[in-house]
Amino acid sequence: MSDVTDLGIAGLRDGFRSGEFSARDVAEAFNARVDAADALNAFLVKTPDHALAAADAADAARAAGEAAKPLAGVPIGMKDLFCTKGVATTAASHILEGFVPPYESSVSQNLWDAGAGMLGKLNMDQFAMGSSNETSAFGNVISPWRRKDGGNAPLAPGGSSGGSSSAVAARLCPGATGTDTGGSIRQPAAFTGISGIKPTYGRCSRWGTIAFASSLDQAGPMARDVRDCAIMLEAMAGFDVRDATSLQLDVPQWEAGLSADLKGKRIGIPKEYRVDGMPAEIETLWQQGIDWLRDAGAEIVEVSLPHTKYALPAYYIIAPAEASSNLARYDGVRYGLRDLPEGAGLQDMYAATRADGFGDEVKRRIMIGTYVLSAGFYDAYYTQAQKVRTLIARDFERAWEACDLLLAPTAPSAAFALGEKSADPIAMYLNDVFTVPSSLAGLPAMSVPGGLDSAGLPLGLQIIGKPLDEQVVLNAGLAIEQRAGFVARPEAWW
Ligand code: GLN
Repeated sequence: MSDVTDLGIAGLRDGFRSGEFSARDVAEAFNARVDAADALNAFLVKTPDHALAAADAADAARAAGEAAKPLAGVPIGMKDLFCTKGVATTAASHILEGFVPPYESSVSQNLWDAGAGMLGKLNMDQFAMGSSNETSAFGNVISPWRRKDGGNAPLAPGGSSGGSSSAVAARLCPGATGTDTGGSIRQPAAFTGISGIKPTYGRCSRWGTIAFASSLDQAGPMARDVRDCAIMLEAMAGFDVRDATSLQLDVPQWEAGLSADLKGKRIGIPKEYRVDGMPAEIETLWQQGIDWLRDAGAEIVEVSLPHTKYALPAYYIIAPAEASSNLARYDGVRYGLRDLPEGAGLQDMYAATRADGFGDEVKRRIMIGTYVLSAGFYDAYYTQAQKVRTLIARDFERAWEACDLLLAPTAPSAAFALGEKSADPIAMYLNDVFTVPSSLAGLPAMSVPGGLDSAGLPLGLQIIGKPLDEQVVLNAGLAIEQRAGFVARPEAWW
């Protein structure tokens, strides 16, 4: 038997069902791979027993002749933003050290109900704030990719779901959960040569997912290819009464609906996404993507999203505003860390706990958020940013009169070296220039690998769809995937 860790989600599911291997074989093989990859720092907690228990349940059900669950035999990685019952969950922050949730997030529960097992909790940017994984309190994740041109500096796996991207790219797991507030599924997927989809806001329940910016946060899958993303998203999505923003809609059968035929579809190319200073190789890939979609039967049209340049500033007001409110709950009373200096009062405890527990980027955002929500500046910043958000959403609505999908690069560069941007928050925030607008509008958006740059690093193409149009997004992703023929994988050095 070939190495089962070479298989993706569909391959594992199908091989398990047809009796080629047992679920236990699969779980053991991935547990061993996780154990051998500590150098990547992708996992904060390993849960081999969780994976084995799910595998044994799947094997027992198969032996009893029961119908296989959708993800029976498939172990996955879980971003540490999802609360997992009885398993330490920190959102990669010191302030949550010692927190063991007494409940399971809806998304993770949905995955377990579908038969999946958990290999462990994946490292990430602290509270999902970042684009490089360097804000984790437990050390950054390292990308399994290396430049081929001699520059051998360790690379960022993207962020905030960098543990997820690194683990999937290094084949420590066939799929992983991610969350995307302003690009955290798509940008790390692009940096590591994998696929990831952020569904329409409200498709996946936010219940039990540690909140960053509630009006933007959305869970989604990160996996090796489009089909695997479709399978995993079907398991993750669904209405949940415990999340007031959850969409009360049936989950479509995205996998069954996959088709790379785009006849009759119009693909919009947003001219404002041609930003200054974008590497020529990304321009070239974008053009290549246009040609691929035309080849798949689509018609290409140029569209304008005139307020694009205001998306980043609006996002970096709205997201910190919501974060400052959401993170007020970490006060030393209820969760994780408590710093109670000798003779200290309640205020001192709050201050000491928060000063000690939050990382610099989180503190920066809490301060910005508190400032833009303060009585004197609320209208100048927060109200204004909300108006801009509406204009951005309207730009997309207008674009949908002319097209069914948008194609753009996922990120303005390939993976950068660790440390390269960490001293300059603005340079870091600029990474999100192509992912933030669709987040502000709540739209489904996906990144698929398009090719390698001259340094041998993956580049991603992004497809943005109308609300609830995940199927069309996935189909366009499939059309690109089939034409890109992206098979590159990082050479193991870890
Ligand atoms: N990089 C963006 C930020 O730092 C997006 C993060 C995310 O999507 N969670 O806010």
